[in-house]
Amino acid sequence: MDKVITCINCPVGCRMTVTLSDHGEFVSVTGNTCPRGAKYAEQECTLPLRMITAVLPVAGSDTPLSVKTSSPVPKEMIAEIMEELSRVSISTPISAGQVILPNILNTGADLVATRSLL
Ligand code: SF4
Repeated sequence: MDKVITCINCPVGCRMTVTLSDHGEFVSVTGNTCPRGAKYAEQECTLPLRMITAVLPVAGSDTPLSVKTSSPVPKEMIAEIMEELSRVSISTPISAGQVILPNILNTGADLVATRSLL
């Protein structure tokens, strides 16, 4: 079975054709311009990962805090992680790079502030 996906590792956006076995396992990929595309294609067909970015309300501040995960997390956990983020309570001061929520749902990724709020 073939599946067409777009590499999101750089702005070129190569369209790649991935061949999967009858059991859905990655077999091969064509259409990638560089090895990063091949790695992405295999990852996307086995355990898709995504970075999460979000903004969170901050107690006592009119300015929300922008946050992101420190590393990609399983795509299938995004809804669960966003629900977890909705329960986070934060207040100032916050420093850029500060860990807001460590090891989110045991993914190994931290939620970190992308800006400072005094
Ligand atoms: S395969 Fe390489 S060149 Fe093509 S989009 Fe991915 S990273 Fe960019």
